[in-house]
Amino acid sequence: MSTAPRLAAAKRDWGSDETGCVVLHIDMDAFYASCEVARHPELKGKPLIIGTGPRAVVSAASYEARKYGINSAMPVTRARRLCPNGIFLPVDMRYYRSISAQIFLQVFSRVTDQVEQVSVDECYMNVAGALRQWGQPSNIARWIRAQVAERFHVTCSVGIAGNKLIAKMASTNAKPDGMLLIPQDQQARFVQLMPLRGIPGIGQALEKRLKAWGIEDVAALSRYSESELLQATGSHITAHGLFLASHGLDERSVTPYTPEKSIGAERTFLQDTTSLKDVCNLLRQCSDEVASSLRKRDLLARTITVKLRFEDLKYMTKSHTLRVPVNSAAAIYPQAVELLKAMLYMSDEQVAKGELPRLIRLAGVSSSGLSKAEDTPIQPSLDDILQEEKPEPAAQQRSQLAQAEQALDSIRGRYGKGSVKLGL
Ligand SMILES: [Mg+2]
Repeated sequence: MSTAPRLAAAKRDWGSDETGCVVLHIDMDAFYASCEVARHPELKGKPLIIGTGPRAVVSAASYEARKYGINSAMPVTRARRLCPNGIFLPVDMRYYRSISAQIFLQVFSRVTDQVEQVSVDECYMNVAGALRQWGQPSNIARWIRAQVAERFHVTCSVGIAGNKLIAKMASTNAKPDGMLLIPQDQQARFVQLMPLRGIPGIGQALEKRLKAWGIEDVAALSRYSESELLQATGSHITAHGLFLASHGLDERSVTPYTPEKSIGAERTFLQDTTSLKDVCNLLRQCSDEVASSLRKRDLLARTITVKLRFEDLKYMTKSHTLRVPVNSAAAIYPQAVELLKAMLYMSDEQVAKGELPRLIRLAGVSSSGLSKAEDTPIQPSLDDILQEEKPEPAAQQRSQLAQAEQALDSIRGRYGKGSVKLGL
C-alpha cells in the first residue's frame, strides 16, 4: 500500500502524445482488501483493514478505511481506535499470491514478456514490442484495467510514460482506479510539480538533508547542478540519481525478473536490521552462492540484481548490466554493494557510519542475462586493451580470485556447501 504523496494538480490531462511512452507501471488498488472483497462481496464499500497478524500492523486498507486516516504499517490498535466500526481481517498471503499469479499470467503476460514484477500487486511493463499489435500504449492500459476489474474484481491504476520513474509517479497520482499518461515533453514539468517525497527513493533522511540545503521541492532540486548536489548529499550516486529524477529522467530499463532466467539467492534476517555490515555480509554469502551455482551449471551472467525487502514488506530491486559476463563472487559482490548503496540513495557519511536509512527484512542477489560459458567469448574491454602492455594488478588479482573460487568449489564438492567461504 503506497504512502507516496499524491497531488490533486498532477491528476489532469497532460496531453495525448504517446510517442516513446512505452513504459507502463501497473499498481493494483488496495490489493489485499480488493481480494477479500472479491471473495466476500458483502464487504464491498465497507472500511476494511487487513492485518491482525503477529506483528499487528496494518498491511492494507480499503479506500473507505483510508478515509479514517488509516495507513499501512500503522499499529492495528491505533487503526481500531481511528475506525471502531472497521472490519479487521487477517493477512492471507497465500490467497493474495494466487490471485496475483493468475493476473500476471492471464492478463499481463498476454501483452508482452517484458514484465518486471516489483511486488505481489505491482509491475513495470515495456510495451515497445507490443505496439504493432495494440497500436497505442493507452489501448494496452485500458485493456489491462478492464480485464483485471472484470475477471478478478480488482481495480488497478496505470501510469504510462517514457521511463520507469515517471510511469511509477503517474500511477501513484492516477489512484485509485485511474490512468495517467505523461507525454515525454511533459516529464520535467510533471516531476517539478512534486514535493521531494514524491520521488520514489527520497525518504525522510534524504528529504531532511536536502531541506537543510534550502531545497524544498523537486522544482528547487532541478535548479541544482550535479556537482552542487554532490556537495549537498556527499554521494556521487545519490547526486546523479537526484539530478536525473529532478528533470524527469531515469536510466533504468524494465528488467523482467523471472526465476527460470535467473540464478539467485536470498535470505530473511532473524530481526530487521539497519546495519550495513550485516546486509553486506549477507550479500557476500548470496554472491558466493550465486557464483558457485553459475559455475556448477557452466553459466556466465551479465546482469546483477540486488533485491531488498523492507519492514513494510515492499520489495525493491536494482540491476546493473556488466560489459563482461561473470561467474565469480569477486566480480558479483562489489557490484551488489554498489547497487545496495545506490538503491537506498546512501550518502558517503551514511556509508562511513555503517547505518542504512531503512530497516531491511530480506536481502538477496541474483544474476540474469545468462549464457553458456563455452558459447560466450569474453570480449576484452577498452580498458583491458589499453592496459595490455603492463598487466593491470586489479585484473591479475581478479583472475587469482577466480582461481581461488574454483578451488573452493572442489572443496565444497567434497566436504559440503558450508565448509569454506571466500574472505572478500
Ligand atoms: Mg498497490
